[in-house]
Amino acid sequence: MSYSLSFLDEEKICPKCQGKLSCCEAPPIHVGDGLGWGSEVLFICLNDACPTFLNGWEQIEKRYGHHASYRYMELPGSKEGNFMMVGNSDAFKGCVIDREILKEQNERFVREKAAVEGMKTCLAENNLTPVMTLLLDEAAAQEARRSAVTYLIKLNDMACIDSLRNHKFRDTAFEHEVNMAIQAILKANFKQECPHCMEIIKAQAKKCLHCKENL
Ligand SMILES: [Zn+2]
Ligand SMILES: [Zn+2]
Repeated sequence: MSYSLSFLDEEKICPKCQGKLSCCEAPPIHVGDGLGWGSEVLFICLNDACPTFLNGWEQIEKRYGHHASYRYMELPGSKEGNFMMVGNSDAFKGCVIDREILKEQNERFVREKAAVEGMKTCLAENNLTPVMTLLLDEAAAQEARRSAVTYLIKLNDMACIDSLRNHKFRDTAFEHEVNMAIQAILKANFKQECPHCMEIIKAQAKKCLHCKENL
């Protein structure tokens, strides 16, 4: 993502009706429109009772002789008011951005990037966190998650097991890789999982300490 995401937290009020401006996707630029608005998003007052919109029909009819009105609009990071011409009351209503979803996606992306960075030093720092972040993030890049599995084995930290066991992996082939890694870690620590209760017990145990089942 190359553009600024500061608009995600921006709140704007329409000076004409005091309603909240909606954050909308900027319309695609057509040949002849020049550079467009220079922004990916526009803040538009979509209130049908806004005086700008209500009075616009008559103004445009008088001035240009066609059926259209105006919506009040501001660009992100600017207080300057603009007026967008609209042909009907539904214009832009389908382009309202769900900023909560966008924010979550962005936060996830930032977390993934930090984890990929953190993985480079995780062995030196004995830090399981970046590895776990990637393994438990189904939306992270598959390549990064694959290398997280190799670091998992090298870190050899049994603290990883519970969260991995509780995680629902979407890709069964990947889940299998993770399971193999867990088995390798258990083995390296002379442990096993009880086949009856899944608690971690000594590799040489003949009876489970937790569920008392014979092995
Ligand atoms: Zn308004
Ligand atoms: Zn058991």
